[in-house]
Amino acid sequence: MASTLVMKFGGTSVGSTSAIRQVIKIAFSARRQWDNVAVVVSAMSGVTDALLEGVTASIRDVTCADRAVAALREKHFNTLDELAPGAKDVRAKIGGYLDEYLVLCHAIHVLGVASPRILDAVSSLGELMSAQLVATALTEEGIFSVAVDTRTVVVTDEVYQSATALMDETTERCKTIISPVFARGLIPVLTGFIGATRQGITTTLGRGGSDISGAIFGVTLDADEIWIWTDVNGVMTADPRLVKAAHTIPTLTFREISELAFYGAKVLHPKAIRPVLERGKKLWVKNTFAPAEPGTLIVPDNGKPTDGTIRAVTAFKGQCIITVEGRGMLGVPGIAARTFGAVARTNTSVSMISQASSEQSICFVVSCSSRETVLCMMRDEFRFELACKDIDRISASSENAIITVVGAGMRHTPGIAGKIFSALGKAGVNVIAIAQGSSECSISLVVDSVETTKAVVAIHQLIT
Ligand code: ASP
Ligand code: MG
Repeated sequence: MASTLVMKFGGTSVGSTSAIRQVIKIAFSARRQWDNVAVVVSAMSGVTDALLEGVTASIRDVTCADRAVAALREKHFNTLDELAPGAKDVRAKIGGYLDEYLVLCHAIHVLGVASPRILDAVSSLGELMSAQLVATALTEEGIFSVAVDTRTVVVTDEVYQSATALMDETTERCKTIISPVFARGLIPVLTGFIGATRQGITTTLGRGGSDISGAIFGVTLDADEIWIWTDVNGVMTADPRLVKAAHTIPTLTFREISELAFYGAKVLHPKAIRPVLERGKKLWVKNTFAPAEPGTLIVPDNGKPTDGTIRAVTAFKGQCIITVEGRGMLGVPGIAARTFGAVARTNTSVSMISQASSEQSICFVVSCSSRETVLCMMRDEFRFELACKDIDRISASSENAIITVVGAGMRHTPGIAGKIFSALGKAGVNVIAIAQGSSECSISLVVDSVETTKAVVAIHQLIT
């Protein structure tokens, strides 16, 4: 059977002429080792943001659209001129997408609002342009490629800005649209991040969603391996900006990477993991700018303990603790349900929960930006309990960080929590709240935001 590789390149990996030259080198060597190679691209770095900022600013002042278009045109055309100077047709196609952008900005200006559906039409343009650019650049170097607008391939539900691919229909489309491209010996350069509903209306998979596209194509093209190319050496034991000694983790299980992705390690979109996990495919995270580095291999959870116990430590800043306190809560059922019901009504996601067994307080963590909204909603929900002092206080802390320690091997090893807390104690870090995932694959703790680095460095020393 023919071997198939899907490679996804992120925004920085296609963000400049020199980055795209790296992509060409990588594609060249992949081409020699695999029968079929598919490339999935993000928009050039900064482009999705620029498209969305331009359109939002156009609601008030439509001339903002012209400024945004000028900057986007310069960025794409300069890169195109450097990589494939003669590609007039591609220049015209990119120009066409920018014209479409202007039309959308004007429409939004007239309407005075930008609906999620229009925002998807706007943000899809970044990938449509970068796919043109990359396909031409590859072809120019003799790696014959064709850009594929994946709105014709990825069929999604109608949840604009956070759509989910319908895998069976997408697999069918892959057979009719992408397989013939492979059969002709070409590399399909697929737009990440975007799809369309059954009616053909453009959708996106959510910000950072091109990783999800990489996973979707890995599955629907039945690839042997999926390589996610980014701008760091795979998944690190800690953020190298916080810890000098941070290093690449050679292998991680799906569960470990999921915990890491949730708690702030931005290397891989958490939603990209599930489809690949279900098929047990090999997923690599590699560095476009250091392709010789092996990167990180993500492997299915096989129940066996992994070597070493603590694998990584992450910090998730900008968080605050909301505490509901009161002796009147003791033994009263329903307080927790009402608490989280109230939070849910504000559309805020809770990143951590802990309740002491004395039942005199419940605390949970939300992002600082939601602090006031959540407090208001909670005080309203419990206004009677507050009035009669069954609940003494509902309060919020100042800025905190959630430190998460991850390692699937932790569940088989006693004493890890002890080691973590004594390391923090020695470093003089005060721990405000603690939670252990029931999977025993991670322990999270909350510290004052100013102690983030100290905490991460202290825990990192326990990683062998
Ligand atoms: N271009 C999209 C974004 O910036 C998708 C991605 O890069 O993954 O969110
Ligand atoms: Mg990304």
